[in-house]
Amino acid sequence: MEQGFDTKSVHVTMEREGIPTKVTPIHQTSAFTFKDLEDMESYYSGERDYLYTRVGNPNTDELGTAVAQLEGAPAGIATSSGLSAILVGILAVAKAGDHIIAAEDLYGGTYELLEKELTGFGIEVSFVDFGEDLTSSLQDNTVLLYTESLTNPLLRVEDLPKANEFAKKHDLKWMVDNTFATPYLIQPFVEGADLVVHSATKYIGGHSDITAGVLVGQADVIAIAREKMVNLGSNLSPFEAWLTVRGLKTLSVRMERHVKNASALAEALRGHPAVQKVYYPAFLSEQGNGALVTIELSDAANIETFFQSLGWVKIVATLAGVETSVSYPTKTSHRNMPPTTQQALGISEGIVRISVGIEEAQDIITMIVNALDQAQK
Ligand code: PLP
Repeated sequence: MEQGFDTKSVHVTMEREGIPTKVTPIHQTSAFTFKDLEDMESYYSGERDYLYTRVGNPNTDELGTAVAQLEGAPAGIATSSGLSAILVGILAVAKAGDHIIAAEDLYGGTYELLEKELTGFGIEVSFVDFGEDLTSSLQDNTVLLYTESLTNPLLRVEDLPKANEFAKKHDLKWMVDNTFATPYLIQPFVEGADLVVHSATKYIGGHSDITAGVLVGQADVIAIAREKMVNLGSNLSPFEAWLTVRGLKTLSVRMERHVKNASALAEALRGHPAVQKVYYPAFLSEQGNGALVTIELSDAANIETFFQSLGWVKIVATLAGVETSVSYPTKTSHRNMPPTTQQALGISEGIVRISVGIEEAQDIITMIVNALDQAQK
């Protein structure tokens, strides 16, 4: 049947099923189509996988599944951000009236999500020093233990076997944010965690061009989290999922270089007169000790001058990505944490977090040392 111009211009999409592509195409579509009502019914009976992108899409599924495989978990979902992945993960296991024990030294955004939003949902949260005995924080309604494998910004390595033992002993779910370590260095699910979450915005994506989250865990819990994600509308876009998967493919080689450079930088900064303390984990993993180095500038060093003297090192409020960057936690990620809590945690005005990139190690060292030299003049 001959179509009018307007109809032709609308129906331009050609069917390309069966074309063998090396890389998964981007299914940049808000919805999937059906031949007839019976075909549509086949979605609800489980024969067809996709209906509407907020509910599910091949690219977002690919990302969730890929990270689950790297973490050794049976299932995973991709969400619009790390924070939304944390939210749907928590809501999958906690409801109004329940209580969560969370590490006190969490990423500032997570702290706010728990402290301001979850308490508004009627979920109680206790922020606790995980170095102490957690038993005194237990309540009859405690359902979840929440921590980060490698903390922000002071890079404390969580004692995962201890947390696992505590969670199992008291029949709690255990959720771990593995953003800083990535499954290249640590796999908390293999260590017994029920849920592992990532800000895929960071090392999973790896190129500072997406905002995304991934949550992995047992299939039954992930199914509940997926339902929360759908109902809260916190799905990831297909294009961002595609970009994230592209980044994920080089996770190992990027991490290998990040870790090598970070280790060299930490070594070079120890003993610099402008540096009071270098925070760089030891014994994090057989693969190395992480890609981040946090330093505390000495009182004599001028923090403004340090930031003004960084040259090509980028000043940002985030981390990861292939370029070396520097952030200032008290004025960014932890800005809204009460100053007394910041002080108690050791997040002082001298704390600077360096996200070590994949450039030549010696060039990174030269830039940071030069900025420190300038800062102490
Ligand atoms: N978890 C950690 C450890 C983070 O550092 C961040 C962000 O910096 C998040 C979660 C939140 O991730 P997003 O910004 O992708 O929501």
